[in-house]
Amino acid sequence: MTRTTPARPVDVEEVFPGLAAYRGTTTRLHPRRGRPGVGDSHIGGPMLWPADEPWPTCGEAHGPVTHGYVPDEIRRAREIGVADPGADGARAVERHAVSQAPARAEKPTPTSTPTSTGDEGAVPFVALAQLFRRDVPDLAAGPDGEDMVQLFRCPLPHGPHLERRYHLRWRRADAESADRMLSTPPELPLLPWEAELPEPCVTHPEQVITYPWAEDDTLPAALTARIDAWDDAQEAAHGRDAPCYQSDLSIPPGWRVGGFPSWASTGPMTVDCATCAAPMRLLLTAEGYETDGGTHNWMPLEERDLALEGTTRAGFGLSVVVPTRLRFGRDRDLHVFVCPADGGHPPRWVLS
Ligand SMILES: [Zn+2]
Ligand SMILES: [Zn+2]
Repeated sequence: MTRTTPARPVDVEEVFPGLAAYRGTTTRLHPRRGRPGVGDSHIGGPMLWPADEPWPTCGEAHGPVTHGYVPDEIRRAREIGVADPGADGARAVERHAVSQAPARAEKPTPTSTPTSTGDEGAVPFVALAQLFRRDVPDLAAGPDGEDMVQLFRCPLPHGPHLERRYHLRWRRADAESADRMLSTPPELPLLPWEAELPEPCVTHPEQVITYPWAEDDTLPAALTARIDAWDDAQEAAHGRDAPCYQSDLSIPPGWRVGGFPSWASTGPMTVDCATCAAPMRLLLTAEGYETDGGTHNWMPLEERDLALEGTTRAGFGLSVVVPTRLRFGRDRDLHVFVCPADGGHPPRWVLS
């Protein structure tokens, strides 16, 4: 089933002709629960990962994990439709106490033990997403022309500010043969939060038009002033359900590739390469929610509830609202930035 973003409530370039010069594209991924394979673009599915290649691990110091969720219990709870595996009374996921986060998967394969560092405390990264350029029109090529990218997250927080660590791996899809792939990646036996385990989702990539966030110097000051005035006039005329540039016309919600960063919680930030100081380019955006009260008019036509109007909170259920079950920060967007000058320079991870 395809997913189709509805036409925007107004023709934005008709209202702001100056925006035409800033028109861009982004590919909405529209993840939905499914059974993706190693050769598919997906969120939370099996990675195309050679069996003889060490699985990525986080070797940084982690505090003790004293409470958590066993991954298989989370999977079972989701299968039977329990939203929170900890909320199921007697059959709830048992919260086990452990003193230190172990690194071994339940059924480790001979090649799944981290060999790069040999570090006993190393924590296996969790596979978040795998995207092929053939499926995702706005996905940039890797530093050496790679056509596939894999995204990972360490499931444990770091330091007093609970910082997160992410990992990006580029690959050439045709260089990997599927008969020697890792079948069971190592997994932390206890995850600190349910939202650390992605629900396997297939994607339904759809390229849409997008425009920059309008604040500070993301657009010329005169244009931003016109947009602000238009927003105010719309609200004065039509109330709080009136269309608004930021939530209805510029950047779609949910997982997306390319396009412009959204700065709802932080305000615009300059993101320069830590190695060469070049302004970085947005590779992709990961977001927990595919829709919320302010953005349900972006819901695909195939799933839209036409009875919904204005800012009414959508009643779509978890499988559409938070299909991946992942969360980023306090329900923010995770922007992955890469260096356009040299793709070998480390990416930057920005929550906004
Ligand atoms: Zn870590
Ligand atoms: Zn750089």
